[in-house]
Amino acid sequence: MSDAVNPEATPASATIDWAAKRADFPVLARTVHGKPLVYFDSANTSQKPRQVIETTDAFYREHNANVSRAVHTLGMEATDAYEGARTRLAAFVNVRADELVLTSGTTQAINLVAYSHALPTLGKGDVILLTRMEHHANIVPWQLIAERCGAVIRVADITPEGELDLDALYRQMTADVRLLAFTHVSNVLGTVNPVAEICREARRRGIVTLVDGSQAIPHRPVDITALGCDFYAFTGHKMLGPTGTGALWARREHLQSMPPFLGGGEMIREVRFEKTTFNDPPHKFEAGTPNIAGIVGLGAAVDYLSATGMAAIEQREKQLLQYATESLDRIDGVRIFGRAREKAAVISFLVEGAHAHDLATLLDLEGYAVRSGHHCAHPLMAYIGVPATCRASLAFYNTVEEIDGFVKALGKVRKLLG
Ligand code: PMP
Repeated sequence: MSDAVNPEATPASATIDWAAKRADFPVLARTVHGKPLVYFDSANTSQKPRQVIETTDAFYREHNANVSRAVHTLGMEATDAYEGARTRLAAFVNVRADELVLTSGTTQAINLVAYSHALPTLGKGDVILLTRMEHHANIVPWQLIAERCGAVIRVADITPEGELDLDALYRQMTADVRLLAFTHVSNVLGTVNPVAEICREARRRGIVTLVDGSQAIPHRPVDITALGCDFYAFTGHKMLGPTGTGALWARREHLQSMPPFLGGGEMIREVRFEKTTFNDPPHKFEAGTPNIAGIVGLGAAVDYLSATGMAAIEQREKQLLQYATESLDRIDGVRIFGRAREKAAVISFLVEGAHAHDLATLLDLEGYAVRSGHHCAHPLMAYIGVPATCRASLAFYNTVEEIDGFVKALGKVRKLLG
């Protein structure tokens, strides 16, 4: 391996003991099928450091109570821990805490925007513009509400390298387009979209923007305010946090004008059978008992990522990506999908003559966890002309040695299938 791609050789990485970071993730010490586990499925869900596991455990052991309801000590501790996590999460992505709605994940966040913002404001013939690289979570909610309000869905295309065709996208931003929903980073191609530029173009034309940040927040510094979007959705379990956590940031004017999505406790000010008045945002959109321990754990994940430094994480993952891409490119018959100039550490690939599921199954027997399938992106798979790919998605806790081992395992598997 050359120094040019050595993750240990660069200034930001040099200040961090990545082996010690890795040791914070207990599951990475286990074996599968008698081989050391190599986890290359972080785009699906990330592994959790002990700090997150211990914080969640300590919440249940020492503080467990419901939030915003009880005046007793535990109730106040739980509320403080929950709201404290919201405050830290908001600071982490540079938004106001009272504009950050806590959700169960990206899926719930996008559905909230679809049902509370788009459904009441869009009508017959209005256009919702999506891109060909969207996850089903950023397609299906729009289809569901389009059916009900008569809106039409249009799709922006991608180049053979897997980048958005920006000229075509801007030409598609016609006067009938009311909303543009697109991903920050593709979970299949790894493409990082130029969000600020796209949002600027949309805003000039009066188009509301929603950005799916699921694959961006865990891997690079993200300043949501600087991006200039209207809505930004992301998920906690891909950023070292517990499952069932996430958030939606929305501009204040939207949060104020949007009707609630779910009704129930917490989201009200006063309930009368004649008329109910609602709590202020973000609580107006948080009906019922939330995933309190999960959000408290997500606060610990934010602390962990902040202490590590998102710029250093981005840099290390870029170097791991470059090393892995160069290594895979040297293997005959391996085809990589997605060659964007700006790319996150996601490598979708196929080996000539082998089915993706067979590859993933055999790799699992060697200890390597990679995802195979359509990656919740049917339209993209149809476009690139394959039913499934294998996807190796890396995180800062992965190593060069794991990539070297993976290349060897892939060679072995290729022979078995060939
Ligand atoms: N969008 C993208 C780009 C994703 O990768 C995912 C998760 N695979 C989602 C949305 C959905 O996230 P969640 O299941 O956490 O709601």
